[in-house]
Amino acid sequence: MPSYKHYLLRGLNIGLASLLPSSCPLCGTSGNELLCRDCRHQFFKQNQSRCRQCAIPLLAHDAQHICGECLSLTPAYDSTLVAGDYAAPIDQMVLALKFGQKLALATLFADLLRDALLQDPKLPLAELLCPVPLGRRRLQERGYNQSLEIAKPLSAHLGISLAPLMLIRSRETVQQSSLHPDARQKNVHKAFALNADFIDKVKGKHIGVIDDVMTTGTTLNEIAQLLKRFGAAQVSNYVFARTPRH
Ligand SMILES: [Zn+2]
Ligand SMILES: [Zn+2]
Repeated sequence: MPSYKHYLLRGLNIGLASLLPSSCPLCGTSGNELLCRDCRHQFFKQNQSRCRQCAIPLLAHDAQHICGECLSLTPAYDSTLVAGDYAAPIDQMVLALKFGQKLALATLFADLLRDALLQDPKLPLAELLCPVPLGRRRLQERGYNQSLEIAKPLSAHLGISLAPLMLIRSRETVQQSSLHPDARQKNVHKAFALNADFIDKVKGKHIGVIDDVMTTGTTLNEIAQLLKRFGAAQVSNYVFARTPRH
């Protein structure tokens, strides 16, 4: 039976055009921009009203800016900003960065995240950025942390310092996407630690946590709880793609 990873890699060929630097990763049109104007407009226009706290698209009956789930469960993070939905064809770009070594896409993701941030002038910007860390074994397998690769150009675009080593994965976890939502909390519980060098730097600060995908938000909530325990004043998630409601 083909492995999960094999299945994902095979999926990359569906709807994902050539990733030559001069061609649009979604439709293959050649040009000078990272993503062609048509695809940018079609897939990343920020016309969707989203929950301020978790960025899930809001339903008509949701209270003004916060979804029903965030109102009842109150995550530890204060806000989430995303560039788009984790659905076709955006999901294929995420998989190409994560499993297909298409590192050039990280620059594009940072560019789209910056655009989304700048379109929301009411959203206060973080003072310090950090990526969601990978476990040592997965980092060795992949050779890079896709969240850090997005964080580097985003930090440069926004002029906000990046602390790549702020968070440490204190134990290996199973890929969250492979687990039932009920098992995810247990999987990431106490999976992260704060690097001792940052204990004084987190206190009273607004921290921005960067990731490629947010599914249920369990991992980001675990990290926000940790940062708040060390006195972070505010935690914002900056995530490229958000899994829509089922
Ligand atoms: Zn295109
Ligand atoms: Zn919400």
